[in-house]
Amino acid sequence: MDRTAEDESIYDELGVPAVINATGTKTRIGGSRIRPEALEAMARAGESFVRLSDLQAEASRRIAAVTGAEAGYVTSGAAAGLLLGAAAAIAGTDIQQMDRLPETDDVPDEIIMPRTHRTGYDHAFRAAGATIVDAGTNDRELGTGSTGVEPWEIEAAITEQTAAIGYVQKPYTEPPLETVAAIAHEHDIPVIVDAAAELPPTENLSRFIEEGADLVVFSGGKAIRGPQTTGIVAGRGDLIESVALQHLDMHAADSVWNPPASLIDGDSLEGVPRQGIGRPLKVGKEELVGLLVALESFREEDQAALATSWQQTAAQIAAELSEVAGFETRITAESDVSVAPEIVVHVDPGEASLSATTLVGDLRRETPRIFVGADRLDEDVFTINPMCLTEDEAAHVVARISNRVSTCNQ
Ligand SMILES: *Cc1c(COP(=O)(O)O)cnc(C)c1O
Repeated sequence: MDRTAEDESIYDELGVPAVINATGTKTRIGGSRIRPEALEAMARAGESFVRLSDLQAEASRRIAAVTGAEAGYVTSGAAAGLLLGAAAAIAGTDIQQMDRLPETDDVPDEIIMPRTHRTGYDHAFRAAGATIVDAGTNDRELGTGSTGVEPWEIEAAITEQTAAIGYVQKPYTEPPLETVAAIAHEHDIPVIVDAAAELPPTENLSRFIEEGADLVVFSGGKAIRGPQTTGIVAGRGDLIESVALQHLDMHAADSVWNPPASLIDGDSLEGVPRQGIGRPLKVGKEELVGLLVALESFREEDQAALATSWQQTAAQIAAELSEVAGFETRITAESDVSVAPEIVVHVDPGEASLSATTLVGDLRRETPRIFVGADRLDEDVFTINPMCLTEDEAAHVVARISNRVSTCNQ
């Protein structure tokens, strides 16, 4: 059911400007289109009750099967998974320490990160009580061949206070995960990998576990196209157990507390933990079921056909925009780690009579708003990502951009 750009959306009905998403799966404009079968499953999930720990135990089994990890868990997003992963690395299965978080006075609480891996999302680690320790430099652009961080610099940062190593998986990040994991494991420290947006390809579901991640997080609301407020954590069974203990609702009578044994070894604990640091990051039965159904569909999807259709959309948009005065377009190369090809448009402000910044700002003020990629406005470049565009929307975006430039040239 393809809606056209002109169709009335629920947002129009609410009097809130709708958005045409030409920038890919970005949370602030709604992530992705949820799969219809996931939505339908969510409606059914809302009709009756289930013990959340039982549902998480089944999710764990399924996530383990698709990732090759020992266990898995559904969180309220990849960032929530980072927070819970840090909490697990710091507290383990010590229920007193779980209760004290984010206080970490007497326990190792440092998470080492290569400096070039730092992002706004690592606030999630600190929210659990961790202190981030940067390793390496930013020395990558001097043209000398030096890299941002050398493996020995990561090793040198490890102390008695280290709880984990944080690693952000991106095509540009280094050293390779395998190298970092080998160092971490020599010192008996877990590696927590942020791979939130590194799907597809579906092979990446298992890739980072194979390369040594002790925990890896993925967003459920990006290419998986599950509910926006979901994420996946996969990894070591003991860490996932700690995640579960610090996330699940724990208002339970000790005498009848009987969590699913595959997820939580209740007998080995001192008692029932208190509500944990993850309790505010609740996941409902509806979201959890929606994610599981979306994950199944994502795995069954014809990846090659999807990649071809993105390539075709990208080629078409690039060809049309290259006709615009002052525009130069190219399409980013395919790589085994990048999610979708993007159209990179360089704007010559003299010839086009407007700058990329003006154009991008104006597009966002239209009705519906049009969002294109704006990471490189300082170079007079904007980008278009085909992932979240229908054919009609792609045509609308091209028409509006061409129109805007030709109006300026009159
Ligand atoms: C999107 C993203 C996140 C956050 O994922 P959510 O599922 O929205 O919480 C974290 N890290 C990176 C690198 C991302 O791209």
